[in-house]
Amino acid sequence: MTAVLSVRDAVVEYPGGVKALAGVSLEIQDREFLAIVGPSGSGKSTLLNVMGTLDQPSSGAVVIAGHDVTTLPDRQLSALRGRWLGFVFQQFHLTDGLSATENVATGLLYAGVPRRRRGPMARAALERVGLGHRVDHRPHQLSGGERQRVAIARALVHEPALVLADEPTGALDTANGVAVLELLTRLNQEGTTIALITHDRDIAASLPRQVEIQDGRIVADRSAAHPGPSAGRSGVLTPGRRGALGSAW
Ligand code: ADP
Repeated sequence: MTAVLSVRDAVVEYPGGVKALAGVSLEIQDREFLAIVGPSGSGKSTLLNVMGTLDQPSSGAVVIAGHDVTTLPDRQLSALRGRWLGFVFQQFHLTDGLSATENVATGLLYAGVPRRRRGPMARAALERVGLGHRVDHRPHQLSGGERQRVAIARALVHEPALVLADEPTGALDTANGVAVLELLTRLNQEGTTIALITHDRDIAASLPRQVEIQDGRIVADRSAAHPGPSAGRSGVLTPGRRGALGSAW
């Protein structure tokens, strides 16, 4: 597998000495769907901003597509962001005066796609999220769940290497939240790499990998392929596996 994004020993320190990130290292592989989970104030948004190149770490590196983005000038940084990353936020951030198609097409502005191709690509992305019948609606004519699906279509329309989703179900009722998670799961199965930030342990537990952050540090990194912190990456054997090894234990 190839890493689409690596964070290496990132520290974010605010004036006054608050360390929002106190040395975080994280690799995201192609086609992963991971949750970054932790309580309020643990550093999740700071990590998302650093991964999304919206904030620079005080020290450490962020490597996307082979570039250490902490060394790039602003113009190259926005080009790289526009091409490689897609964002989904809790509050959707759609533009009121624009139709769903026009909102999604804004996701192509910095991806170097010619104007005449933007409308068809935006409509195809809306089809993909199940909104083919809402392409001309404006945000105020859509439900919260539909608005978030428009935002997801905008995040996907340029086929980014990684979608960063910050509490994407946080402003939705339970049913719409479940529908948005199901949509993200399907998109991941179709090949999209997604990092989802949440403070909700149930949502995190439903995803294939959970990275847990506390006080600006990663305190656990579990993945369904290697279930349980003890049987997984640390290599420590669980009682069950010990039993299977019989007399050796
Ligand atoms: P989370 O997203 O997990 O709620 P944040 O990343 O927003 O956590 O914040 C992590 C820590 O950094 C918190 O203690 C927060 O108060 C602090 N923090 C965040 N932004 C700033 C800032 N601009 N200035 C000073 N401290 C900040």
